[in-house]
Amino acid sequence: MITKQKGTYDIYGDLAKKRAYVDEILATLCEKYNYGYIETPVFEASELFHRGVGETTDMVQKETYDFKDRGDRDITLRPEGTAGVVRWFVENKLYGNMTDPIKVFYNMKMYRYERPQSGRNREFTQWGFECFGSDDVMSDAEVISLAYNAYRLLGLDDVTIKLNSLGDTESRNNYREALINYFRPHIDELCEDCKERLEKNPLRILDCKVDAESEIIKNAPKTLDYLNEESKNRFEKLKDMLDLMEINYEVDTKLVRGLDYYNHVVFEVVLNDSYALGGGGRYNGLVETLGGPSVPGVGFAMGYDRTILAMEENGVNIPINDSIDVYILYVSESEKETACYLTQDLRLNGFIAETDSMARSLKAQFKSVDRFNAKYLIVLNDSELESNKVTIKDNKTKQEESVNINDLLDYLDMHM
Ligand code: AMP
Repeated sequence: MITKQKGTYDIYGDLAKKRAYVDEILATLCEKYNYGYIETPVFEASELFHRGVGETTDMVQKETYDFKDRGDRDITLRPEGTAGVVRWFVENKLYGNMTDPIKVFYNMKMYRYERPQSGRNREFTQWGFECFGSDDVMSDAEVISLAYNAYRLLGLDDVTIKLNSLGDTESRNNYREALINYFRPHIDELCEDCKERLEKNPLRILDCKVDAESEIIKNAPKTLDYLNEESKNRFEKLKDMLDLMEINYEVDTKLVRGLDYYNHVVFEVVLNDSYALGGGGRYNGLVETLGGPSVPGVGFAMGYDRTILAMEENGVNIPINDSIDVYILYVSESEKETACYLTQDLRLNGFIAETDSMARSLKAQFKSVDRFNAKYLIVLNDSELESNKVTIKDNKTKQEESVNINDLLDYLDMHM
């Protein structure tokens, strides 16, 4: 037997219905914020993600699915959404004539070679939002508001936004220096990867998974102490705006996020202090890093699978339709022909209709009526059909009514 790959799962049945429900809510909300839908390819040139996400990040060093295709090209499966969207933005020169910010949202599968556990898979979905072209704190506030309200509309009312600022380039450089000076005397106590990170990218020591509980990391300098005046003011302004919009946030000075491209605001969405349900931030240098001009950007990615898990764990009522409208039963060949066109007619007129397609006995068909939880059933009968009539039965009240076949749709419209 060929089984699915570790860290992947099939989507069907109730889970498929739950996802469709969540998708609809999120798509409607994104439209209200005036974000347009985008989908980028599942595979891209490795260089895009390696350069975009950062060579020294765990994601690129340990988690990407990299391979050579048959044309000897270096290919990587998409591990996150932002780099591909930036590639699209640069490749289409959308920076050329920007009169308004360009705002897009996506719903895409991601691939990371991680140790699978609850809420952590190798193939998983992220919904994400990206906004290009504004460096104003207003667009930070908008993306955070979109993220926050997405969870709330899904019924996760108690989410908190964890918020931090890495500041502008000058602030980040000051902070980098401070980290190197702080960690250098302790470096022998940290893991091998952290030793390498010290000079290359000391910020990454802070989200080391091996040393996560180490006191040395816990006591490391905090970004907020190294922000210059401008970055500090900007962060204060953002907090004011979040207060105005009544967004529930907490400053978390330890938050740095695992990707290299962030500056100024970084944030995560958490519920009951459990793992992050999503994260984002500002990435003003990324468009330039990926070959475009200097265009600011800010975005967010929702861990969609985790969000649905959290909805289930927190008792959110996700409506799942587990019934059909009409089941049509028959015995003779001529009744079967009527069932054939009548079922299509009902389906095309908006009803969930089912009939027997396995040439089974009437008794077996009645069992299907129960299994599908049909609201109405129609047992076709040749002698009735001669006078254009069918008998429709309400499966709950067991009441029957004889209806002209041409009036059937009206009858159902009236009764459902
Ligand atoms: P990131 O792109 O790493 O910032 O992640 C954004 C969100 O995606 C996280 O907060 C998680 O909710 C979700 N996520 C990240 N990695 C995984 C994974 N391997 N499996 C499921 N969800 C994930």
